[in-house]
Amino acid sequence: MTSVSAGLAHDIAIIGGGAGGVLTAIQLLRAATAPLRIALYEPQSTLARGVAYATPYPEHLLNVPAQRMSGFSDQPDDFLDFLSADPQERAALAPMFVERHRYGEYLRDRLERARAASPATLVHIVQPVMAMDRNEAGWRLRLADGAQADCDAVVLAVGNRPRPLPARGAGGLSADASLSAWDFDAVRAVPGDARLCIVGSGLSMVDAVLSFVATEHRGAIHVLSRHGWLPQPHAPHAVADFDPARLLSLDLRARLRFVRERVREAAAASLPWQAVMERLRPHGQALWRSLSESDQRRFLRHVVRLWDVHRHRVAISVHEQLQALIDRGQLRMHRGRLDTVMQVGRCVQVGANVRGRPGLALEVDRVVNATGVEMRVPTMRNPLLTELLGEGHARTGPHGIGIDAGDDGRVLDADGRVQPDLWVLGSLRIGNLWESTAIPELRGQAEAVARQLIAR
Ligand SMILES: Cc1cc2nc3c(=O)[nH]c(=O)nc-3n(C[C@H](O)[C@H](O)[C@H](O)COP(=O)(O)OP(=O)(O)OC[C@H]3O[C@@H](n4cnc5c(N)ncnc54)[C@H](O)[C@@H]3O)c2cc1C
Repeated sequence: MTSVSAGLAHDIAIIGGGAGGVLTAIQLLRAATAPLRIALYEPQSTLARGVAYATPYPEHLLNVPAQRMSGFSDQPDDFLDFLSADPQERAALAPMFVERHRYGEYLRDRLERARAASPATLVHIVQPVMAMDRNEAGWRLRLADGAQADCDAVVLAVGNRPRPLPARGAGGLSADASLSAWDFDAVRAVPGDARLCIVGSGLSMVDAVLSFVATEHRGAIHVLSRHGWLPQPHAPHAVADFDPARLLSLDLRARLRFVRERVREAAAASLPWQAVMERLRPHGQALWRSLSESDQRRFLRHVVRLWDVHRHRVAISVHEQLQALIDRGQLRMHRGRLDTVMQVGRCVQVGANVRGRPGLALEVDRVVNATGVEMRVPTMRNPLLTELLGEGHARTGPHGIGIDAGDDGRVLDADGRVQPDLWVLGSLRIGNLWESTAIPELRGQAEAVARQLIAR
């Protein structure tokens, strides 16, 4: 694939070459019946890595079984097809959580194939887009190296950004003392006897702990989060039998009651609670969109952590590893809200509030930020998004999270008017859709956006 950066013109620009951008490019290449100039703007030199698939390390697994990770809804076994041609091996792999880097390899393979068979052309421009303005044709993009590019339509696929460490004093920590759980190499390089405080207890924390297991880390690992819950394990595949549509007309409180009743029924039928979550999983967007605005707000304030810990689960083997570390006293879960971090010599003093009062003090050598995905665009520190909001080309999504878009994925400007030639997909649609980051949602969005673009 060509990598260029110069004065450019394309029919379609896709900004962001993680999984979402690459899936959109594949759909466009496959659907094109005539020459079409597509550009993929991605500063990483390797496509389809983004955050999730950038890890080269074998301990980092997909959190969805291989049989449900196809990039294409009309080819449900496509990821398995990539992994193996042998029927027995495929059957064994189907329920497994395979190494995450395999998924980036898979998407790159499918991109190359689509490109080779398409009348359309694709260029990878190894540059971030810093800003975009309207021109007569559509959009003019401004790149980090000062070059400009004109295009008729734009797809924003800029994905996930890490949340800054939510603590007073965070800016004063040295680079050695503070690291991001998404910096997979830095986590692997932590000295084996370092005392650690991981802030956040979701799947990014799990990634970091698994790397510490892989490097035979000996130092204490403290995990601090507001609820102190450990991620829950998947269960052997089972789906409870009830109609999720019955939830749609209920308010939040009644929904929670309904779900608890289904969990009790499942238990009576010897099914785990995970079977109820599996039944709800494909309906996440409908469940969110049918809540009133005030119930959505209540959900974000009071229920979201309970939901997340049951929704975003880990492989059983991973859960067992975490539990083993807890049992031998190396991993300690703490409940509290991080308040301050202060570097004293080579140590970091961490202070957290428990029930609104100073209640926890830890002295560690490193703080690992595993607080996950930033949902508020103004704090994402992505210059392109800041500019889009500042110029009124876009506005923040419901509840101030993500950016606002119509049902077809087209961005709404500051006055709520549909941008006819600007689409968004992935986690930026969180305010409108809630479930909008994992592959099952991304593949549907990429298909829908490509269909509209080709129809133009
Ligand atoms: C650690 C982790 C593990 C995950 N594991 C799974 C899993 O197992 N299964 C699953 O279904 N989902 C998983 N997810 C969800 C994940 O978000 C999606 O699967 C998917 O990777 C998201 O892809 P994306 O393209 O939307 O975003 P990203 O992967 O974040 O990619 C966005 C890309 O846009 C680029 N970009 C940003 N701004 C600009 C700009 N201004 N100009 C040009 N380029 C720009 C970035 O460099 C980046 O490469 C995981 C997420 C994380 C964070």
